[in-house]
Amino acid sequence: MITFYCPNCWNRIEENIDTCPFCGFNLADFIQLTYEEKLIQSLHHPVPSRRNIAAQVLGNNNSIKALDEFEKILLSGETDYFFLRVVLLAIAKIKSTKSLELLKLAETNPNTLVREWASTLIDSVVNGLPIPEWDRGTG
Ligand SMILES: [Zn+2]
Repeated sequence: MITFYCPNCWNRIEENIDTCPFCGFNLADFIQLTYEEKLIQSLHHPVPSRRNIAAQVLGNNNSIKALDEFEKILLSGETDYFFLRVVLLAIAKIKSTKSLELLKLAETNPNTLVREWASTLIDSVVNGLPIPEWDRGTG
C-alpha cells in the first residue's frame, strides 16, 4: 500500500482528497504541476536526502525556475551545511546571470564553509572552469 504525504507540510494524508486537512494545501492543483515544479516543492522535504536529490536533479536539468526557490532558501537562514553545499553547486550548474548573483549572496553567509564553497564556485563560473562534480553521499 502506498502512503500519501502532503507535498507542502509532509503530514500523512489520505488518497484522493482535494485539500490537505493539516495545512489547507490545494492537492488538486498540485497534481497539475509539472515534474520540475514538483521537484521545486521537494526542496522543502523534511528528509534531508530527499531535499538534496531534488536540488541535484534541478541543477543537472538547468532549471532556471528553481533559482527563485534557491534564492529563498539562501535568504531563509537555512543552516544545514550539506544542503547548502548541494544548493550552491546546483546554482553553479544552472546557466543564468542570476546564478552568479546568488553565489555572491552566499558569500555573505554566516558559515565560513558556505562562504568558501561559494567563492570556489564563483571562481569556476567566472573563469569558465569545470564546475565540481556532486559529492559522494549527498544523494
Ligand atoms: Zn499539508
